[in-house]
Amino acid sequence: MSCIFCQIADGKLPGDILYQDEEVLVFPDIQPQAPLHLLIIPKKHISALSRITREDKPLVGHMINTAQEMARREGVSEKGYRLVINCGQQGGQLVPHLHLHLLGGRQLSDQLG
Ligand code: 5GP
Ligand code: ZN
Repeated sequence: MSCIFCQIADGKLPGDILYQDEEVLVFPDIQPQAPLHLLIIPKKHISALSRITREDKPLVGHMINTAQEMARREGVSEKGYRLVINCGQQGGQLVPHLHLHLLGGRQLSDQLG
C-alpha cells in the first residue's frame, strides 16, 4: 500500500496516535508549523477534499468535531486555533489522503496564503 496516511491508519508505521475511533485518527504532524499541529484523518482513504461525496458528510462532520475536542484537550480552545484543509496542487496539498490540520499555541498570521 503506497498511501502514507493509510499505512499510519493501519498501524504499519510507528507514530504517536493521540486519538482514534472507528472512523478517524489523530496524530502530530511530523513537521509542526505551530506549537500544536495535529492531523485529523479519516481511516477511509479519500484522496482529497474535492473527492468527498454526500455519503461522506457525517464523516467530515466527525472530523471537525474531533478537531474541536482535540483543541479542548490540548488547551487551546479559549485562545483560539485554526483548521486547514489543503486541496490539490495549488491548494498546497502534499499528501493525497484527506486530512485536517489543527494549528494552535501561537498567534497565527491573518494572511491565508
Ligand atoms: P498537506 O500539505 O498535504 O496539507 O500536509 C501534509 C502534512 O503531512 C505536512 O504538514 C507534513 O509535515 C505531514 N506529513 C507528511 N508525512 C508525514 C508522516 O509520515 N507522518 C506525519 N506525522 N506527518 C507527515
Ligand atoms: Zn490513504
